[in-house]
This record gives sequence, structure tokens and C-alpha cells, in this order.
Amino acid sequence: MIYFSTSKSSIPVSIKKATLEGLAPDGGLYIPSEIPRFSPEEIELLEGASFNNIAFAIAKKFIGAEIPLERLEEMIESCYNFETPLITLDSNTFVEELFSGPTLAFKDYGARFLARLTGYFASEDQRLITVLVATSGDTGSAVAYGFQGIANTRVVLLYPSGKVSPLQEQQLTTAGNNVHALEVQGDFDDCQRMVKQAFVDPILKERLTLTSANSINISRLIPQSFYYAWAALHLKEELGVTDPIFSVPSGNYGNLTAGVLAKKMGFPIGHFIAASNANDSVTRYLEEGRYEPRPTITTLSTAMDVGNPSNFARLRYFYHNSNESMGRDISGIAVSDEETRAAIRSAYDRFGYIMDPHTAVAFRALERYRSSGHGEGKTGIVLSTAHPSKFLDAIESVLDLKIEVPQRLQCLMEKKKMATLIGSDYKELASFLNGLDQ
Ligand SMILES: *Cc1c(COP(=O)(O)O)cnc(C)c1O
Repeated sequence: MIYFSTSKSSIPVSIKKATLEGLAPDGGLYIPSEIPRFSPEEIELLEGASFNNIAFAIAKKFIGAEIPLERLEEMIESCYNFETPLITLDSNTFVEELFSGPTLAFKDYGARFLARLTGYFASEDQRLITVLVATSGDTGSAVAYGFQGIANTRVVLLYPSGKVSPLQEQQLTTAGNNVHALEVQGDFDDCQRMVKQAFVDPILKERLTLTSANSINISRLIPQSFYYAWAALHLKEELGVTDPIFSVPSGNYGNLTAGVLAKKMGFPIGHFIAASNANDSVTRYLEEGRYEPRPTITTLSTAMDVGNPSNFARLRYFYHNSNESMGRDISGIAVSDEETRAAIRSAYDRFGYIMDPHTAVAFRALERYRSSGHGEGKTGIVLSTAHPSKFLDAIESVLDLKIEVPQRLQCLMEKKKMATLIGSDYKELASFLNGLDQ
């Protein structure tokens, strides 16, 4: 399989190059030259298969012979050593919980796979790869714990001092080993500016092989298709349900794009709801056919506060730049903070189920889709992207109850914070990076 850029002006590359480069040199996003198809017979054979077997079948098609199959299988086993529960709310509404990984959010699915692939490709060339990321919270922790202990890699992550939650800070600063946290006296934009400068610093380029791990990396996207395929096949096998609707809480639209991949591969998926908060650039595009990104608005579902989603370029490409064609597979629904709070309440009152604000946005969007007369009798799957205990304040302000913090999160809170405090001048980052061993 070869990969080319959505901007089409760079040379097609292997999965190895696409993974290590992240962004194509022409500024586009890598996509497979063609989306691999599963025949109906192949799909039938996978019904009843385990999550990891389905993941392996998909990964094989995207990665081909570039990694020996037994290595690929091992990688998948070590990535997904946790459950992906499918919870029943009522006879045709399910929640797929994607938060059982180490950082309690769905970004573990992509980051763990990317880390292992990066480690494998780095070891082929006997290189040490330095992953450099600026983070405002969730991505950084998934990357820190994804790359923790992966040979031939190390992570340097920058986060804005005092601007991440205490829990997020613990997640960013306790991975240890090959993960270095830099606490920057500045804001997220400073962190991003410093990282960008490092990527174009010729002196660093001589010394270190730098790569990024942000959500545009194709090797973070591919593994996110696994849980769509798995849920669709599992429901078919267990309940005879076909073509469910997935409601996807969306920010940068990586999650949704991975769902589109799964559908185009041939897995039995009916439709998608792109559930957004007040940051509704894609929703408006679906309605009006014009893409007019706006500045980011702060909402209750903070991880979805993205004004100009990076994966939109891929979605657009897959649907030939046509909002009508995109609209046949995807309905956009924007949910207000007020509705989000009401949805947290209603899910708890009706089903005794506690949702974090991101999941609640998707739940509410599914309800609105149904009440507007669509998808009648169709099964809906709400993707739950974070464990409620990650967003205690938001939930406890709506529900009068104390949320139990899972054991592994409590352990995390007791670990010792390890971070290097630096100023927001690029020179300080350069001097830290230049001080690392080669
Ligand atoms: C990142 C994130 C999202 C948004 O996912 P995208 O792939 O960027 O659309 C939703 N919920 C949570 C909890 C997240 O961390």
C-alpha cells in the first residue's frame, strides 16, 4: 500500500515514511492510495472474531508486507490489552466505551499503535526517534503513555504551566523512562510556536531525528477504524443488527474519518452523526456547502473545541469535495452546552448511566437525529470518548453525586511529578534538546 498527500503535489510514500513524517511535505495529509476492501465473504469470516483479530485483519491490509505479520500481531496484542465494552442503554441504543486504556480516553487507541509502529520503523534503521509534541492536555497524555518504554523512541512534550487540570498534569508528568515533560511558563500557543521552531532548526536537524505525533498522523487514524468494525460485527453476530448509526463526538474529526474508512472498507455501518459543540464549522459545511472555519469557542466539551478541524481535508477528499455526497453518509448536529448538561441528566435519570460531556454531546445528537424523523428503528451507537472521572467538575455540577475514581487513576495521582520548568523563549527548548544524548 502506498500513501499520498491530499494536496497531491508530493511523491507517494510507504507507510514507514508517512508514519515518521506525519504531515506530507506539501502540507497535505497522507491517505492510502486506495481504501482496502473486505469482500462480503471476508467480513462474514470476521463475525464473532475478537477485537484484536479484527484489528489485525485491518492493519494487515494497510501495512502489507512492511512489517512481518507475527510482529504486527504482537504489536496489536500489546496495544489493546484492555476491553472495549459495548453497553446497552435500551433495545436499540448502545454506548461503545473507548476509555479503558491507560489515560482513560479514546486517544489511547491511536497513540499506542502509532508508538509501536514508530518504534519498529526506528529500530529497522537503528535510529533513535525523538517525538516532539505541544499539548493542552489529552493528546499529550495518550502520547506519553503510548510511547512509554518503547525502544528506539523518546518523547519530549511541552505543556503550558498552570493551564492543564491537575489530573492532566499528573498524566503528562509521571510516565518517566523515555518521556520528558517540559512545563512551559507560557500558554499553549507558546508551546506550539516553540515546537514549530524546533522542526525547522537546522542545528537540531543535524543531531536529532524529530517527529510529531499529532492527530493528523495516518498511523493514529488507521487503528481508530478497529473499534467501528468491531462494534458493527459484534452487534451483527450477537443481535442480528445491521448497519447501525454511529454518533461521534468530534473535534479534529480524526475519529469520524476513521469511521468513514471502516465503512468504505465494507464493514456493515449505516450512517454517521458528526456531533459537535458550538464549534460547528463542519456542521455548517454539511448544510450549506461552504467551509468557513471560525475562531475556537470554549465549551463544556473542551477536547472538541476546534474551530478549524485538521482531518476535514481527508473527509473532503474522500467525498470528492461535495457536501451532498458527504451528507449521504454523515449528518452534522451541533449541540449547545445547555443541551449537553440536559443530556448528562437525562442519561442518568433514564438509564442510570453517567456520561462525560463529550459522550453526552453525541448522545444528544443521536436523540435529535431520531426526533427529526431519521433513522427510524435503526440501532444507534454512541461513541464514549472519555471516562466521566476525567471531567468530574462538569458532571458534578449537573448530577448531585460523587463519581468514583477508578483505581488506576488513583494510583496515578500518587505518582511523583517529574517535569523541567522552562521559559517560553525558543532558546530554552533548543538548549534542552541539544542536551539530550544522541
Ligand atoms: C480528542 C477528543 C475528542 C475529539 O476527537 P477528534 O478525533 O479530534 O474528533 C472527543 N472527545 C475526547 C474526550 C477527546 O479527547
